[in-house]
Amino acid sequence: MRFQAAFLKFETWDEPIYISRRPGVVNLQLNLKYPAYAFDSVGRLLHVFDGHKNYLRSLDNRYLSKWRQNGKRIEWISKEAAIPIVRESYAVASRALESLSSEKFEVLPAPKSSPESIPYLLEGLRTVSSWNWERLEEDAKRFKRVYKPVSILPPDQYMALVLQATEGCWYNKCTFCTFYRDRRFRIKSPEEFEKHILQVKEFFGSAIVLRKNLFLADANALMVSYRTLVSLLEVVHRHFEVMPATLTREERIRWRTEHPGGLHGIYSFIDAFTTGRKTPEEWRDIARRGVRRAYIGMESGHAPLLQFLRKPGTPEDILNAVRELKEAGIAVGVIILIGAGGDRFYEGHVRDTVELLNSMPLDHEDLIYFSRFVPLPGAPYIEIAKEVGVKPLSAEEMSLQENEIRSGFVPKNPNDRPKFSVYDIREFIY
Ligand code: SF4
Repeated sequence: MRFQAAFLKFETWDEPIYISRRPGVVNLQLNLKYPAYAFDSVGRLLHVFDGHKNYLRSLDNRYLSKWRQNGKRIEWISKEAAIPIVRESYAVASRALESLSSEKFEVLPAPKSSPESIPYLLEGLRTVSSWNWERLEEDAKRFKRVYKPVSILPPDQYMALVLQATEGCWYNKCTFCTFYRDRRFRIKSPEEFEKHILQVKEFFGSAIVLRKNLFLADANALMVSYRTLVSLLEVVHRHFEVMPATLTREERIRWRTEHPGGLHGIYSFIDAFTTGRKTPEEWRDIARRGVRRAYIGMESGHAPLLQFLRKPGTPEDILNAVRELKEAGIAVGVIILIGAGGDRFYEGHVRDTVELLNSMPLDHEDLIYFSRFVPLPGAPYIEIAKEVGVKPLSAEEMSLQENEIRSGFVPKNPNDRPKFSVYDIREFIY
């Protein structure tokens, strides 16, 4: 079934409601505007928009609110604040189900609005209405049995299907990062990884179709040896259809239509200085096995700043990593840490980052992320910076630094340039 919808006026409702359903999602929208609710096809609340704030639910049942008020605001809300929002969401779904089953209604004109869609919508509403706050809490416990915390993803992968082939970060000592301090690095055996995949599939159920990309987690999954990586990727291919790497643009579009549950590619983080452990032919083989893009926490092109951050590897390692991946046909997402090293490293950071970016063979398949430094609680960076007198940059200075790097970048081909994007780790949710 594809997208189906109905814009309905019930006798007992003040406002008409637009109900739509497509594989993986059920949406409700009062008066074609808001409040607007989205549930996955299993019945989990995905997000709510009340006309002012967006509330996004994580799979461990926490709620991130985002809104605009003199700029962008982001805040995790308390359980006490979340419960009424969740109860109201399911109450609207239940009321819509009840009214659609028992009272007279009129189908109003709106995009795709049709009386033929009613049985399909009723089925979706029935599933959603069987959920409530308590069931979401139970579901969050299930999620935590299947996954170690999903600590961070690149912004274009927030809706990916995460598979934890490894756990943690093998290095775990960068002073600004605490994402994986809670676990030791380990690589799963193919058998354990397969068990994890089966649990993940069971957990997501029919809503797995919402996940179009596969993200191989945790921090440095691609650093495992070639032989191990191949055996892990073979397990992936036993369980999922992954779009072949060699398709043309038109063929990709056709493939997506013909494989609605298929995955568009495999994505992962990688450390710059571990790429050299695989040969060019091995990287090409990994690309053939579906790995589309690797995200590199470059942070800076300025060697003294990388040392200050205790980031392993050098700017040359980063450049070599990008070259090796690109030559193999794997795109890159290069992440720059704006504000790192505060005032002390400002000029060197801008100058050498621009120079390093300009030496990379980047094109339209690649991304350059600008991630503003966020002091994470417990990160040694803050104390170290204070001790040596490094002054943090203000928001304005960070904007200036980002703009200087952006404007210093010269694409190899102006018609084939990488995409710039913002990576705000405060917005991360899974
Ligand atoms: S920044 Fe990357 S390499 Fe450094 S500790 Fe964090 S996850 Fe590990």
